[in-house]
Amino acid sequence: AQKMGEEGTQEDSYESTTFAMDTVMTFHIVAPDGEDLLIDAEQEVKRLEKLFSVTDEDSDIEQINDNAGDKAVTVSADTLALLKAGKQLGKATNNAFDMAIYPIVKAWGFTENEYTIPTQETLDELLPLTKVSNVTIDEDASTVYLEKEGMAVDLGGIAKGYASDKLAELLKKKGVKSAWLSLGGNVCAIGTKPDGSPWRIAVQNPADENDYVGVVEISDACAVTSGGYQRYFEENGKKYHHIIDPATGKPAESGLTSVTIICKDGTKADALSTALYVMGLDDALAYWKTQDDFEVIFVTEDGEVVATEGLKDSFTFDGKGNDYTY
Ligand code: ADP
Ligand code: MG
Ligand code: MG
Repeated sequence: AQKMGEEGTQEDSYESTTFAMDTVMTFHIVAPDGEDLLIDAEQEVKRLEKLFSVTDEDSDIEQINDNAGDKAVTVSADTLALLKAGKQLGKATNNAFDMAIYPIVKAWGFTENEYTIPTQETLDELLPLTKVSNVTIDEDASTVYLEKEGMAVDLGGIAKGYASDKLAELLKKKGVKSAWLSLGGNVCAIGTKPDGSPWRIAVQNPADENDYVGVVEISDACAVTSGGYQRYFEENGKKYHHIIDPATGKPAESGLTSVTIICKDGTKADALSTALYVMGLDDALAYWKTQDDFEVIFVTEDGEVVATEGLKDSFTFDGKGNDYTY
């Protein structure tokens, strides 16, 4: 842990960086006992990583996947809660968020980073195995069952969001009033800065990693970005990224390059950032209009930045050479 000694504050702030869930995480805690709290936070994230990993044979998720089409598996309360949320968000987004997409993600090689373009025949075989309706959750028995052999769940699009919610819950319980947690593309704010002003989060320009398209101010909320630029491979001059359209089994080509969701619920923000990326601008805006608990910042392939109306007071467009609209 590193003591920061924030400018203009008497309070102590502590920061540490760790690697978990296949991503770089930084935790920033303003509290006198911040050093100990950072250790607690790291332990909590490692605990969750062990449950949700798709590479660790003993994880809940690997147990579920290994027993697909065979039998129901008893899982921890966290795994049950996360899968329940994932299933519900899948239904809510008309399956744009599909936590059973793993057979397809594997076929593209995104798990092992051994990329291949699957044939249409392969995709046609695998697509029927991605239906969330075939993920059976028995809450009373604490079991999960994948109905068909070959099915597999992949929580890559939602697990970091859930972890951020659990971390925030833990830290708040321990009395933390001011902190931020960055888990890859997921940033969650606890309270405000020590001076009472909101935390300021830069939204990256998908076309230039050294630039940003604007700054959003949040307190007690999460800002979660999904972008095709975050993980992709190139073949014959074409880019193939890791956000799959569950309708086709191919990387979503929706005209967007990133989607940032602002929402109090980090789990929901994570699933929606993936889902709205798949939907594309028009369908995503139509979906947003039916909901009242999140806001969105879109960046399109043409470099246009569109923010939803609820962000008028908290999002400042800041990049150059882009078109901006609320
Ligand atoms: P990141 O992993 O960069 O944070 P996302 O949160 O958008 O990005 O999640 C993308 C990951 O989720 C992929 O790597 C894959 O494991 C999984 N995934 C891909 N497409 C979907 C989808 N349509 N629904 C649910 N999960 C998906
Ligand atoms: Mg996501
Ligand atoms: Mg993400």
